[in-house]
Amino acid sequence: MLRWQQAEGKRHALDGPFPPRPEERFVTLCGEEVTVAVRDVPQLGGHWFDPTCADCATAWLARC
Ligand SMILES: [Zn+2]
Repeated sequence: MLRWQQAEGKRHALDGPFPPRPEERFVTLCGEEVTVAVRDVPQLGGHWFDPTCADCATAWLARC
């Protein structure tokens, strides 16, 4: 399923069954490979203050 995940300074989207965990790498809908940090996980006290990735938003809409 499609989901949003903040990583490396942007809120990207990915297609996967589970949210990535800290230190995990994933490939975004916009084609980047990024690593999740602890501060990117709300359940671990992180906050999604980073801007939404426009390329991921476009890719998300294209797949709906
Ligand atoms: Zn992206």
